[in-house]
Order: sequence, then C-alpha cells, then structure tokens
Amino acid sequence: MTESLVPQQTIPSSRFSRRRLRVCAECDLLLALPPLKTGEKAECPRCQHTLVRRHTNPAERSLALTMATLITLALSVAFPFLSFNISGIGNRIELTETASTLIGLHQPLVALCVLLTVIILPAVYLLSLLWLCVGITRGKPLPKSQHIARTLGYVTPWMMADVFVIGTLVSLIKIMGIADVELGLSFWTFCSYALLLLLTTQSVDRDWLWLYLDSDPKAPTNVQLGESASAQGLAGCHTCGLVNRLSELAPSKKHHRCRRCDEPLHPYKGVNNQATLALLAAAVIMYLPANIYPIMITTSLGDTQPSTILGGVLSFFQHGDWPIAVIILTASILVPVSKMLALLWLCYIVRQPTSTLSQLSRIRIYRITEFIGRWSMVDVFVVAILVALIRNGSLMSVEPGAGALSFTAVVVLTMLAAIMFDPRGIWQPAAPTPPALMPNNVSSPKEHHHV
Ligand SMILES: [Zn+2]
Ligand SMILES: [Zn+2]
Repeated sequence: MTESLVPQQTIPSSRFSRRRLRVCAECDLLLALPPLKTGEKAECPRCQHTLVRRHTNPAERSLALTMATLITLALSVAFPFLSFNISGIGNRIELTETASTLIGLHQPLVALCVLLTVIILPAVYLLSLLWLCVGITRGKPLPKSQHIARTLGYVTPWMMADVFVIGTLVSLIKIMGIADVELGLSFWTFCSYALLLLLTTQSVDRDWLWLYLDSDPKAPTNVQLGESASAQGLAGCHTCGLVNRLSELAPSKKHHRCRRCDEPLHPYKGVNNQATLALLAAAVIMYLPANIYPIMITTSLGDTQPSTILGGVLSFFQHGDWPIAVIILTASILVPVSKMLALLWLCYIVRQPTSTLSQLSRIRIYRITEFIGRWSMVDVFVVAILVALIRNGSLMSVEPGAGALSFTAVVVLTMLAAIMFDPRGIWQPAAPTPPALMPNNVSSPKEHHHV
C-alpha cells in the first residue's frame, strides 16, 4: 500500500510500518495520507490546501528542468539584453547591468533586491535542486542533501523572474514611443528562463523529496485523525511534513525541533499576529515616502522631471496608454494597498469567531493576498531597467528617485507580513488547551486509529 507513494525510486517497504500522518499547514487538521498514484494530489478536506502532489518520474523530471533552467539563466547573463537608439545615440545593456547601474546611482539596496530576486536566489535554488536530484537519480543522496533541502522552502517565495519579464515589457512600452528598441538574445532566453523556473518549482514535491532523502520515522500512535493537531500535543513540520509529538522531543530554549530535519516546529498556540501587525505598520509607514518622493527622475533635453508612482499612472492615462496605466496602477497602488488592508482585516477577523464570511472564504482571501504580493515588484524592475538603459544620455537620462527604495521596502515588508501571518487561526478562533494539560491518549477506543 505504501509503496505506491514512491512509484519511481522505490524505498524498501520495511521502512514504513504505518500510514503516514500529516498536519495541514493552513488549518492544523491531523490527517492520514492515502496511497497516491502518479499525477494525483492529496488535499486537506477542510481548507483544500494541497498536502502532497505526485509527479511522474519526479527526480528525473526535476533534474531535466533544473538543468534546462540553469542553461537559460547562463545564456541570459552572457548576451545583450536590450538595446535602444534615439537619433543615432544608443545604448546596449546586459541583464546584470539593471542592478549594477543602480549601485552607481546610490541605490545599492534596490540593486541588491533586483539581483537577489532575479538571479542569485533562483541560481541558489537551482543548484541546490541539482545537487539533490543528482543524488536521488544515482540512488544515494549526495552529502549535505538534508541541509540543502531545508533551505528550499525559504528561497521559493523570493524568486521573481516572471515578475521581471512583465517589468521588461512595461519598460519597453514606456520607451517605444521615443526610441528604437531592440530585443537582445538574452531577452528571449530570459523569458524561457522565467517559464522554466516556474515549471521547476512546480515539479518539486517536498513530501516525496524528504521521503526519499530520509523515510518517515514511525508516526505517533493514539492520535485522533480529523482533529486539531496542536490540541493533541502534535506538530507537523513545515519543512519536511513529519508529524512530531512535542512531549517526545528534547526541550530546547525556544523551539522544539523536528526529529527528522531539525527545523524549528511551530505548533499552533492561539491567535498571535503581532509580527504581522508590526511588519504591516512598517509597510504603511514606508508607503508614505514611496508615494511622496519620485520613484524615477527623467531628464530630457535639459528638462528634469521627477515622477511619482501616481504621477506616472496619471500621465499614462493622459497619453492614452490605457493598458500600461492599468498595469502600473494595479501593481503599484491597488495590489499593495489591498494587500495591506486584507492582512489587517484578517488579523482582526481571526479574533472574531462569528462572521458572515465562511472560514473557506477567509482562507481564500489569505491565499490571494499571499499570491499577489510579489507582483508589486514590477515597478521596481521598470525603474531598474529604464535607469540601466537610458543613462548619461546627452538627449535623455533616467535616474532612480528616493521613492524607489521606500517602495521596494513596502513590497518586501508586506510579503514578510503575509508569510508571518498564521492562517491556522482562521479555523480555530479559540486558543487550544495547552498540550501539557492533555491526557496522553486523547482518542476513545472506538475511534482509535492505528495508522
Ligand atoms: Zn487544511
Ligand atoms: Zn521536519
């Protein structure tokens, strides 16, 4: 029964003795995984969060995608990205110049964000995955595989090659009217890189990966499936998925650590949104200078024009560039504002057990908030691209404004706020009984599950 969970690289069945338990990361429900065939996924029956997803030939698939993505990344860095020409005076840039030019113009932090999200973090992720997949396809994990697998989850939300593609398209539309723009070879390889990177991240089934690196130790017994895990003194690891009984772990100063991957465990301890609220407050404060100060300063024939986010949107509307005005309006104003409001509202509503909105609707709002946040980086990327492309021109030059740094901070802070928000509170408005006060065996003999 359990063999079908790992159809490709078969793990000896003696290493399992019970069905594997999982705790839903978004609603804290304790569940037993059914045997899955390739192409199937297991969803939480309460909040519909995807627990695991089985792919055909998972290791070979991820390995092939990782290598293809790394090749397209290398090509994107090696060749010219874009070039432009105004009345015979032109400039040609490479991808990395979108960041290096910003350093020269006293915006090292914005440059670092661009470099990290577009090149460095994806490269780290891809090389890590390559290391893991090579080990798995050889039949024996390479050294330090577990350490490397632990970092994958931290890197994934910060990879934004797809957002950079949209940023490039917006930049192109912005300057098409005033200059001849040519797309370099790197532009096309970069588009394939962004697409392949998405496919690569989707090809990774973390549950399968950990099962292969180090099969599940025996699950805790005497547990009540379909009930809250925290109330039973259990915690699901957010990194490898293993269910741990907290009382069986060695107590540490601050956190209990997972007995398989050694990452800190985060059992649900009642509504606690202080970190989210603090990050949101910081984001709201940074959003003021982001709108007051210009995000970009354009000098054209000696005429210097600072443009704020809102000013930029209005000028596009005035020039009739509706599609681009709508993109910038959505990415730079609607998304950050609605995200901050939605998170504030979620922090408030988790303390209200009765609400007209169902729990499923609330968790959907949280998921949308988490998904849309990174798309606000479009405006930062547009500034980076335009600054690199149109610099020190005798006819025209573009420099980043003080608003660019504040706006980057808003995007990063709201993303962190969404990551820190604990959606489990949506399902359990009341704080659970502390595990220490619970009897060891919480299930009645009739409902007892041996898994
Ligand atoms: Zn759930
Ligand atoms: Zn773990």
